[in-house]
Amino acid sequence: MNNRKPFIAGNWKMYKTAAESVETAKKLACLVSGVINVDVMIAPPFTALSHVYEAIKESSVMLGAQNLFWEKEGAYTGEISPGMIVSSGCRYVIIGHSERRQYFGETDQTVNKKIRSALNNGLVPVICIGETENERDAADTFNILDKQIKMGLEGFSPYDLEQMILAYEPVWAIGTGKTATSDQAQEVHRFLRNLIETLLGKKIAGSTRILYGGSVKPENIGELMSMPDIDGALVGGASLDAEKFASIINFKS
Ligand code: PEP
Repeated sequence: MNNRKPFIAGNWKMYKTAAESVETAKKLACLVSGVINVDVMIAPPFTALSHVYEAIKESSVMLGAQNLFWEKEGAYTGEISPGMIVSSGCRYVIIGHSERRQYFGETDQTVNKKIRSALNNGLVPVICIGETENERDAADTFNILDKQIKMGLEGFSPYDLEQMILAYEPVWAIGTGKTATSDQAQEVHRFLRNLIETLLGKKIAGSTRILYGGSVKPENIGELMSMPDIDGALVGGASLDAEKFASIINFKS
């Protein structure tokens, strides 16, 4: 047994207007109002953050952003600063999602800068890592994850990273309907926890929550959560529907 509280987060990607986000968030807050044993976070699009915050601020559902830019302010058209995110009511920020790495040139170096900026502004980073299908087929999964973790977390002390959340998201499982088996995911989560122990010590390794992400649904969450090193989930598609997401949050393992 460990004392890591499960953390289940919904990444709404580029779906939902502000009004649609508020509607789903309100429904979700109602459906999970009795849940005390799981931390719940939703990450709507930037344009909906303040509206959603107003709708859920009295509930147990917490708010996160899907990305940030590391500068405080400046001539960076189209970017959003950590201060803006905090002022919209967010406590969390997703960093290094594979869609950002794949389509928007995110690298382990930019991930590192974003983590620094999030921490400096009191945001908890939810740091995404994961291998592509080709990398898994080439038996390169652990090398890739090792590199993503070492470069992403370079220069941080255990104290800096006490709150961080990691999300293992095999790229081949995101939005594809293919889920890693619970054994495949557990093997990677164990590897990551051992790596964190080597880099940051036993205490952080024991307390860091490592989420699994990749086609999580009400049907597979229970088995995933029964694994000793899986501490929650980052959910894309299935989090867009309040009822479906609530049944993931109410998982029975
Ligand atoms: C994600 O967006 O992080 C994700 C895991 O998406 P999906 O659940 O749709 O695979």
